[in-house]
Amino acid sequence: MKGEELEDLKLEIKRFLLRRGVDLFGVADVSDLYKDFKRAVVFAVSQEKLNALASAHRTTVIAFTSNFIDRIAVLLMDLLERRGYKTAALLFGDEMVPLHLVTDRSRYVKRYMLKINHVELAVRAGLGIKGKNNLLVTPQYGPRVVLMSVLTNAELPADKPITSFNPCKGCNKCIEVCPYRSEFDRGKPLNIDCMKCRMCVDICPVGK
Ligand code: SF4
Ligand code: SF4
Repeated sequence: MKGEELEDLKLEIKRFLLRRGVDLFGVADVSDLYKDFKRAVVFAVSQEKLNALASAHRTTVIAFTSNFIDRIAVLLMDLLERRGYKTAALLFGDEMVPLHLVTDRSRYVKRYMLKINHVELAVRAGLGIKGKNNLLVTPQYGPRVVLMSVLTNAELPADKPITSFNPCKGCNKCIEVCPYRSEFDRGKPLNIDCMKCRMCVDICPVGK
């Protein structure tokens, strides 16, 4: 595909995602990270919106979120595969396996030991910065977003990280509120169970 056609495909993907309720979108260059893939299409949905939709559908936030996000990711993979591109994604439903890689339109699924770091990919795609809470902090919603990344070998025009946004300068709120603050202070990777805690997310003033 030529440059112009790839620009058009990127625009089509953007419209496709926005129509389905995605709030933020970008394309990351990942050619230095993965042998088989050149780009990651990264998208984010507002956590507040997902909470409200889950409540309206009388289901749990976790169940609603994983269905909502996975469905969009699978539809996006379909769109790209129909154009002859390879895609891969680590879906919420795949959490217990390394990675499902859809290698072609026959939907042959193969497991690869690849890792997808959504925060790193979202930073590359220009969705936000990595905050002191180790989460993606977006200008629009702060860290209150749910992320998904779809890898592809389609060489879509890549976005750039944002440089004019530095909300953590002079702010330590997320560190101060964390019960494991001493781990932050030592600068070690956190090996703690954050599942029942969202204090560093809720306290972040960005996007409120
Ligand atoms: S609470 Fe402050 S330091 Fe922490 S991520 Fe948000 S802006 Fe950055
Ligand atoms: S979720 Fe809670 S325990 Fe985990 S890093 Fe944030 S404040 Fe600390």
